[in-house]
Amino acid sequence: MAETDRKLTVSVAAGKGGTGKTLITCSLAQALVSERPGSVQVLDCDVEEPNCSILLHPEIDRREPVTILVPEVDVSLCIHCRKCAHACQVGAIAAIGKAVLTFHDLCSGCGACAYVCPTGAIREVPLRIGEVSHGISPEGIDFIEGRLDVGHQRATPVTHAVKHAISSKLTAIVDAPPGTACPMQEAVAETDYCILVTEPTPFGLANLREAVGTCRRIGVPCGVIVNRDRGEYAEMDEWLAAEAIEVLMRVPERREIAEAYSRGETLMSAGDEWRDELLGLYETIAEAVAAETAATSA
Ligand code: SF4
Ligand code: SF4
Repeated sequence: MAETDRKLTVSVAAGKGGTGKTLITCSLAQALVSERPGSVQVLDCDVEEPNCSILLHPEIDRREPVTILVPEVDVSLCIHCRKCAHACQVGAIAAIGKAVLTFHDLCSGCGACAYVCPTGAIREVPLRIGEVSHGISPEGIDFIEGRLDVGHQRATPVTHAVKHAISSKLTAIVDAPPGTACPMQEAVAETDYCILVTEPTPFGLANLREAVGTCRRIGVPCGVIVNRDRGEYAEMDEWLAAEAIEVLMRVPERREIAEAYSRGETLMSAGDEWRDELLGLYETIAEAVAAETAATSA
């Protein structure tokens, strides 16, 4: 079996926004589906700013709300004991005098307040925080996108709902949110491999160090794609070599790539050579995952 036959889940992340993460996600998906029709899915977990759809142009056929459970208090049953407020770790419920106030934007939906309430005055009710859309791109890429509703901060449940749609029968490419906070970690966790996209600048290197550290902490092997490469930033190359981090691909700073991107197209439109480059990228990742698996089970 060729390494490209393996059905991996590959996340694509970046220590900061604007590095070309989504371009890599969508380009890789298009290259893979051009070789194996119907075998690829893209999961947009950048739920605060999902934009894979701009490059993949999917037709959406289904939308599902994402909800969390938040407390609703029946004041007629409340005995003003304040146990709920003491149980809440994030200050999302407060008992003041004879009133119990809830702050749903702070609530994580943990259920502790309802659990400790001695009178059953608190019941948990669903609160919509976002939605997951399902569709298909013109090339036949299975497309899933999470979107956090405006005014909500709880990205992680939406990310979790998107990842729930991962199919073991398809090669899954997960577009993670930028940065290294909880939403990025939720998107990257339990994927087979993480591609970290960076740019060759001091800012890119600083954020890459954080992203590599995060992948190592959560136990996901990673390699790097240097985007807008001009071959002029030796400090990044020296650091990658010292840390034994594989450079999977370099995307040069070229006019035809910028023009394709500005038209809402991927690397696949920027030159015939990119299809082979991207298929080679996936093969390199599949080999790295196979080696990691062998080393772990030895
Ligand atoms: S569900 Fe959890 S986070 Fe929300 S108010 Fe109750 S204790 Fe606080
Ligand atoms: S725990 Fe229940 S009874 Fe006690 S203050 Fe909160 S809502 Fe009222």
